[in-house]
Amino acid sequence: MPLVEIKSRIAEAENNAGRVPGSVQLIAVSKVQPNERVEAVLEEGHRCFGENKVQEAAGKWPGFAAQFDGIDLHLIGPLQTNKARQAMDLFDNIHSVDRPKLANTIARLAQELGKCPGLFVQVNTGEEEQKAGVMPSDADAFVAECRKLDLPVRGLMCIPPVNEEPSLHFALLAKIAERNGLQGLSMGMSSDFEKAIALGATHVRVGSAIFGDRTY
Ligand SMILES: *Cc1c(COP(=O)(O)O)cnc(C)c1O
Repeated sequence: MPLVEIKSRIAEAENNAGRVPGSVQLIAVSKVQPNERVEAVLEEGHRCFGENKVQEAAGKWPGFAAQFDGIDLHLIGPLQTNKARQAMDLFDNIHSVDRPKLANTIARLAQELGKCPGLFVQVNTGEEEQKAGVMPSDADAFVAECRKLDLPVRGLMCIPPVNEEPSLHFALLAKIAERNGLQGLSMGMSSDFEKAIALGATHVRVGSAIFGDRTY
């Protein structure tokens, strides 16, 4: 689907929800996509992108950044502590902060580097064993711990279970954010970003609807 069409669907969802126009940021998820497709979206003037692997992003984004100004790169996949330094160099935002060890490592590196990406705490709203994220019942304490470390927590992120109604998970995430005084809500993908916007998403992560299917 053309980028302009996704953008107009976002604008319409903002409008339907009584949200301020432009309050939802579109993160174009470019993981696994061929460079030509990513470049086409850059040529259209879009600058906000998401990747889920540090290594993959390191292989392609420094090159694009040399060609295009103002790129805003988001890490939306799990982060190992031994890749935290590289991630903090590459990314403007990290959406997968989900455990004390990682929070401590990021805090230490932020001191050393004198800068820190914007951070989102990932919440495992479906309490799925195989999925990353803090449990909903641990979220308040973990956010407090991050703040104690002076980390710039912008908001929360979730990936709902595949076979459940995503709106329940978006609403839960919004509730946790609200009681913690957090503005950012990273939620909603190709199949459900309009529902996420209705429930307050500030960042939607849309891949296949923009770029087409991923062939692994
Ligand atoms: C791949 C991915 C997306 C985008 O998924 P689509 O269904 O292609 O829009 C969003 N969020 C995360 C965390 C992802 O890994």
